[in-house]
Amino acid sequence: MKKIRRPNSSFLIDPDLIAETKSRIFFSLLTLNIFILGISGVSGYFLSGKTLKPISEMMEEQKEFISNASHELRTPLASLKTEIEVFLRGKELRLGDAKEILISNLEEVNKMTRLSNYLLELNKFQNSSGNLKFSKVNLADIVKEAAGKNKVKFNLKKVTINGDKDSLTELSRILIDNAIKYGSGKEVEVVTKKPGILEVKDKGVGISEKDLPHIFDRFYRGDKAIGKDGYGLGLSIAKQIVDQHSAKIKVESKLSKGSTFKVIFS
Ligand code: ADP
Repeated sequence: MKKIRRPNSSFLIDPDLIAETKSRIFFSLLTLNIFILGISGVSGYFLSGKTLKPISEMMEEQKEFISNASHELRTPLASLKTEIEVFLRGKELRLGDAKEILISNLEEVNKMTRLSNYLLELNKFQNSSGNLKFSKVNLADIVKEAAGKNKVKFNLKKVTINGDKDSLTELSRILIDNAIKYGSGKEVEVVTKKPGILEVKDKGVGISEKDLPHIFDRFYRGDKAIGKDGYGLGLSIAKQIVDQHSAKIKVESKLSKGSTFKVIFS
């Protein structure tokens, strides 16, 4: 720092120099602050975007789900409405016609009941790890109960796993029902083996490579599902049950040769 000497021999600092230094420090600090503000603004923008991404994706998924569910509910409702309206427009109300309409209405009501049951199950198994009652269960007993009166070939070994009986019965039922639905009337085989494996095999239509990555998505239905009953929700419920058991589900399939769904419990 430059110092000047005054006549009575004391050292004094030049006031111009002090002012200049002050203004330099002020501008340096101002530039630094603007820089820090800019950096924190930009990084804040990117970080908040990153943090919010899963939330916005979840909301998008939820929106799509609600729109799909409403669409599926609207179809049978529209058909119910049209049938009733057309019937009421007729001049005479005949008992025979009324019965026919009621039978058809009942079918639509049954479809809606099935859909709402699926939706309730989706919700139940999505948030349910607390509701499941885990205990030692025998997979062989579970698949026999799930198969009910369906004609299925059993190849069952006693396999004890830690699981929730009701949801595992539902999982087996979904896989067996699908094997029958897409099984072209051919043999369906259910296998349980150690250490904790469940297989459901059919020799039916198979799944195309294009469909395979999506079959566990909600409301996804493959090409071969056209004309068959369903909403594309069974396998997403199955996957949720598998996840709740920390298990894995694998699919092997060949078009026109059949499919094998394999659940591996750890
Ligand atoms: P849905 O059977 O009601 O369509 P799912 O969620 O149970 O719904 O199955 C999703 C899709 O996976 C089906 O539409 C079908 O294309 C395919 N799929 C499931 N199981 C089988 C199977 N055993 N054989 C052939 N395709 C199957």
